[in-house]
Amino acid sequence: MRSLFINGEKVVTTQAIQNVNPSDTADVVGEYAMAGIQETQDAIAAARAAFPAWAAATPQARHDILLRAGNEILDRRRELADLLAREEGKLLGEAEIEVVRAGHILQFFAGEAVRLKGETGASVRPGIYVDVTREPVGVIGLITPWNFPIAIPAWKIAPALAYGNTVVFKPAELVPGSAWELVDILHRAGLPPGVLNLLTGKGSVVGQAILDDPAVDAISFTGSQATGKRVAQASLAHMRRFQLEMGGKNPLLVLDDADLEIAVECALDGSFYSTGQRCTASSRLIVTNSIHDRFVEMLAERMRRLVVGDARKPGTGMGPVVDENQLRQDTDYIEVARRQGGTLRTGGERLRRETPGYYLSPALITNTTNDMRINREEVFGPVASVIRVRDYEEGLSVANDTEFGLCAGICTTSLKYASDFKQKSEAGMVMVNLPTAGVDHHVPFGGRKGSSFGPREQGAHAREFFTEIKTSYTRP
Ligand code: ADP
Repeated sequence: MRSLFINGEKVVTTQAIQNVNPSDTADVVGEYAMAGIQETQDAIAAARAAFPAWAAATPQARHDILLRAGNEILDRRRELADLLAREEGKLLGEAEIEVVRAGHILQFFAGEAVRLKGETGASVRPGIYVDVTREPVGVIGLITPWNFPIAIPAWKIAPALAYGNTVVFKPAELVPGSAWELVDILHRAGLPPGVLNLLTGKGSVVGQAILDDPAVDAISFTGSQATGKRVAQASLAHMRRFQLEMGGKNPLLVLDDADLEIAVECALDGSFYSTGQRCTASSRLIVTNSIHDRFVEMLAERMRRLVVGDARKPGTGMGPVVDENQLRQDTDYIEVARRQGGTLRTGGERLRRETPGYYLSPALITNTTNDMRINREEVFGPVASVIRVRDYEEGLSVANDTEFGLCAGICTTSLKYASDFKQKSEAGMVMVNLPTAGVDHHVPFGGRKGSSFGPREQGAHAREFFTEIKTSYTRP
């Protein structure tokens, strides 16, 4: 059994989580420890005890550990990608991109650890100087989802550690493997005991125990809106800071003047790569009249050519859905869309392959309107719907008519419309002639409205969440 990490020790438990391969449910990736409330409290106590020394560690010491860990991830990219593809169902190529990204994130925050600076200036009063400095926040609870098993943990753990915080980390139940490797790598890179604790286990037990513990100073969460709201409520009860990423209903607006090849490529990638299981996926394809039929025709054709199969098999174009629950959610939403008047243009069928797995053909639903449930609620699978609009103005208004606001894309050759869309989109991230999914690691990531809450993640902006500001006045 793969252990927990508490206070630098590998701890095993009586109960275990089975990590199953969604491409072949007969293949058990491994058994992982299942923490309970006692282990969670032990981990929080260890993080508390380790905090003063880690907060006082030199930036160079933090840098060296993060850099060593980042380098090891890059050296082992193939092996880690294979594990990720096997436990989550992402294609090997996509998994390798994710692993490399995690390595780069650790390297980036190694640099940030030594770059962190304050400000100093004159007071408005004579003879006084003012310093603005940043300090670590304390013990941080990190709760992550299954769809990016190594990159999301890396982009929360790396800034937390770089800026001198200690961590209690709870990955999603479905993907404990990549999380375990990441934590093991960081420990072997030299992290002192208690600085980073790993609690594999149930959200309702371990996650909830982290939320309920007043000794946790801050929580960074990525997952569903429902759990995000719990994180917010529990955090307000303790007056602690929190940061939430909760998905999207991201529009891709395709205008008549778009390059059709590029538009179809953006939709195919944005809607169906990683089996559509990305919070930045394009789930609403908003298409203007004159290009609509040709766009739908070409996209459906490209979708039919995507080979759905085992994530680790050469030639596969789309891997399985992550588990039975998610698959049921995907097919239920397709059914709801049809009942409300949508047309299933292609896909949406459960497929049989050589091995038992959660295979679904990519689904395209046409003739939908923005008020249908398929266009209001996040599906989180290989399902996209098409909304026909008159012109750019109507498209913009439909794109913004959502309670989410993570990412929005436009395909057009017009500088005028592209510029206008960048200004008027009510999303945290905007893409022009690019898929809505697929972002850089060194710039802010995050959304608006119901998608996100709190400061941005990633890049140097991550320090806003992971540090506290202090203003000091001195009369020399
Ligand atoms: P998803 O639909 O992506 O699984 P969830 O919000 O259910 O979204 O899960 C995201 C993370 O939140 C997972 O690590 C999960 O275990 C955790 N989680 C689920 N329920 C709770 C809870 N009640 N308290 C804290 N964390 C939870």
